[in-house]
Amino acid sequence: MLRAALRSAARVVPLFVVDSGVADAGFAVPNRAAFLADALADLDAGLRERGGRLVIRTGDVVTETCRVAAETGAGQVHLAAGVSGYALRRERRLRAELADAGRTLVVHDAVITALPPGAVLPSGTGRDHFAVFTPYFRRWQAEGVRPVLSAPRSVPVPEEVRGGRLPSARDLCPGGTASPALPEGGERAGRRRFAAWQRSGMADYQDRQDDLPGDATSRLSPYLHFGCLSPAELVHKASARPDAGAEAFVRQLAWRDFHHQVLAARPGAAHDDYRPRGDRWRHDEDEVRAWKEGRTGYPVVDAGMRQLLHEGWLHNRARMLVASFLTKTLYADWRVGARHFLDLLVDGDMANNQLNWQWMAGTGTDTRPNRVLNPLVQARRFDPRGDYVRRWVPELAGLPGAAVHRPWELTGAERAAYDYPDPVVDLADALVRFRRARGLT
Ligand code: FAD
Repeated sequence: MLRAALRSAARVVPLFVVDSGVADAGFAVPNRAAFLADALADLDAGLRERGGRLVIRTGDVVTETCRVAAETGAGQVHLAAGVSGYALRRERRLRAELADAGRTLVVHDAVITALPPGAVLPSGTGRDHFAVFTPYFRRWQAEGVRPVLSAPRSVPVPEEVRGGRLPSARDLCPGGTASPALPEGGERAGRRRFAAWQRSGMADYQDRQDDLPGDATSRLSPYLHFGCLSPAELVHKASARPDAGAEAFVRQLAWRDFHHQVLAARPGAAHDDYRPRGDRWRHDEDEVRAWKEGRTGYPVVDAGMRQLLHEGWLHNRARMLVASFLTKTLYADWRVGARHFLDLLVDGDMANNQLNWQWMAGTGTDTRPNRVLNPLVQARRFDPRGDYVRRWVPELAGLPGAAVHRPWELTGAERAAYDYPDPVVDLADALVRFRRARGLT
């Protein structure tokens, strides 16, 4: 994008607007604000090494961008395409206001995803997106991802443009407290993590991606979310490797593209059921609170929810099982869970979050929408020795091996020694309720 801008003009203004619309939409939260503040400082440092700097403005993103364009006499404004309804509205407004002033908006559509949404379509169906991942992935592989150009060596910025102060996490989100163990934001931190992942991690990914205590995934999602790393670059680098782990990693990156192409075609799916199933969700405030606080009485669910509170991040398997527990076992609306995730996730993202939640709730693109992940089966398969639970539910740390997954089987004084709640719901009863609600019995 920067290269394209530099092809059209001798000088560029790398601009970041602290967009009041993001805060008004409730999307500015402490964890992402902390990561973003790091990322902006790192971007500014990278631009300074190239003779430039980051220009910061605060306010309505369209007004501020147009103002800077007017101040500098810019002919073009370059922007990475977004897929959310908010991003599309913002883009439309910006295009119109720039056009009124005789300026052009240039939108780059393969920045936040490896392939632009809409680059591959189901042939001969007239449909505007893929609703099933496997055929999408085949076409995605056949299409191929364009190579990524390295950053320009020199970024000349007009002297007269006021830089503005780099925002702190507080500037980006004045209220609330960030989770204690967040990753460091920014391109450099992302590149270090990716380099370490390439050296050790990626090769075993295929076998270890569901290993909950092993924590053997890349943890690159926040860097991808904030554009610190380019998904196309990661696809290229991983595709150059011969191992099955790299292949599995590329497949996950394609999942990311898949959800973006669904949301680009159906922006309403951020809030409405992609495939309505007539659910009449329950809302039991105590149960939802127990889920949020990691006190459902199901240790593997509670471990996941507490990791989320502590790190602002969660392993995919844990995301799946806690989401299934909320939407199918407690039968609560997926939007309640999606909102809680967006409040905490450092990688929280409209496409990946909302559509993965819909997938888990059975209102999205899952071809088996009524499968229910039993937390005890999940625990046996993905945390067989109970180490993940002991890490995150310390009050159960004294229980050895897989016994940690079933504290309710303890009796008398032994049970009383553990300050840990009884299960909020009986799994068998919950399954009957869910199947009835979905008309499956
Ligand atoms: P890795 O396993 O190392 O995978 C590499 C990359 O592939 C990830 O960084 C991510 O960009 C992509 N990826 C992996 N799995 C998925 C997936 N199922 N869908 C889309 N992309 C994927 N991911 C987000 O980035 N933001 C979210 O807000 C988000 N919310 C989720 C909510 C639920 C209920 C579920 C089940 C999944 C959600 N995911 C989300 C997807 C996935 O859980 C995370 O991307 C992943 O856990 C990030 O960890 P990682 O970087 O170590 O992933």
